Amino acid sequence: MKSITLFSIGGTSSWCYHKPSRTLFDCGEGVSLYFEKEIYAVKNIFLSHSHGDHLGGLFGIINTRAYSMGDNKKELNIYYDKRNPYFEQFFEYIDRTFRNIPFKINKIHIKPFDEVQITVDEKVICLPVSHGKFKAHSYVIHKNVKGKLKPEYAGLKPDEIGKLVHSGVKVQQPNRNVPVLYYSLDSSNPLDIIGYKSYLDGCKLWIADSTFLNKNDRDDPTHMTMEECKNVAKNLNFGFTILCHVSNRYNDEFVKQINNTIEPEFVVVKGYYENDNFN
Ligand SMILES: [Zn+2]
Ligand SMILES: [Zn+2]
Repeated sequence: MKSITLFSIGGTSSWCYHKPSRTLFDCGEGVSLYFEKEIYAVKNIFLSHSHGDHLGGLFGIINTRAYSMGDNKKELNIYYDKRNPYFEQFFEYIDRTFRNIPFKINKIHIKPFDEVQITVDEKVICLPVSHGKFKAHSYVIHKNVKGKLKPEYAGLKPDEIGKLVHSGVKVQQPNRNVPVLYYSLDSSNPLDIIGYKSYLDGCKLWIADSTFLNKNDRDDPTHMTMEECKNVAKNLNFGFTILCHVSNRYNDEFVKQINNTIEPEFVVVKGYYENDNFN
């Protein structure tokens, strides 16, 4: 499996797996079919909102983990907004259906601007975004990156640097938190995202709600257009943007045509996508 794997079709199913941190964003239908035996690798699930195309695969994940061959004792952390009754009702249904789930499910409330440490050097920050009249959670992964050598020590040999370190000199610049992945399915207001510049500026990868590839097709105020996504990506200096949640009105040939002419820092995805360049 590549470092980033996702599936997304607007209104059908969306999920995105970040392999380095074993973290899944959303659980659209079919996600367990894709993972099969690797389903045990998933450690964290961050749910954005309770619409069926983002939640419908959670039942399959729990079912597959409970009954497949593998380490079915591994705990699973699910982060979601407990104030949303639809999540609670869905979890009640799961609890009633499975009498003996062999692994522990940690159902954890996450609210706007909470930070969750997911690995030694990576954390997820929850950023609320408008999804029409609702609020969804978008999530950014920040990676703590070791500071580079200060320029005044750049020409020194390793043993000279070692001596300085030994004598207590701080030869490196301070560590930095770098945004590496931003997931914002579903969202409708580009200004929400631009407002999070201090969290997102320079993010390496954005998984964006680009439901409408032509702005004139926008008949649903709960989603963004490709043009809006491009403006946000430029404004926030994103490295690469995956334009997802594409409406079913656009066929594969149309998506292909756009990808043939789009700038290299964008790709339109309708269906599966994987890439190993994002660690
Ligand atoms: Zn959706
Ligand atoms: Zn939605």
